[in-house]
Amino acid sequence: MPEFTPSAAAPVARLIQEFHKLPGVGPKSAQRLTYYLLRAPQEEAQALAQAILEVKEKIAFCTICENVTDTDPCLICADSQRDRSIICVVEEPLDILALERSGSYHGLYHVLHGVISPMDGIGPEDLKVEELLGRLKGGGVSEVILATNPNLEGEATAMYLNRLLRPLGLRVTRLARGLPTGADLEYADDLTLARALEGRQEVT
Ligand SMILES: [Zn+2]
Repeated sequence: MPEFTPSAAAPVARLIQEFHKLPGVGPKSAQRLTYYLLRAPQEEAQALAQAILEVKEKIAFCTICENVTDTDPCLICADSQRDRSIICVVEEPLDILALERSGSYHGLYHVLHGVISPMDGIGPEDLKVEELLGRLKGGGVSEVILATNPNLEGEATAMYLNRLLRPLGLRVTRLARGLPTGADLEYADDLTLARALEGRQEVT
């Protein structure tokens, strides 16, 4: 039981603890969410619990692009209108949502599911890099956009991938500067993202 809820009933303390494990949820927010649910109608709590379970049961990763999906291949990979000659490499599935919102990208994606971070013991072998190479060796792709975040790990990952992809004779590009440095792609506004895509530059 967390020390900030010494007097809470056990089920309450347990829910606070579970909320507290979520990213961005501090002890105070965990308490607030828990007490909100305590007062909420039964159906609302049921719907939340059901949605959480369903996401774990029904959602898998696309076997082509590694995006989260409930169909395989995902809707983007299956869409014949998309430009299959461009692959945009992103860190997380949320980045795809951001780029799709910008409405200015019509190619395919590849989700790495992380970035290279020696501090956290994460190397290329922990990311979906082999899967990316496999796709590229299949042919038909002329450009890879490295859309990792503009921070230390994101840049390092982009540089690593560039070294790996160059010999394959592809055009390798990086989103234009103008994205706030250190910020996550998912928080960039649509116009900034659209401009960053438009102004993408070849990595040398
Ligand atoms: Zn896919």
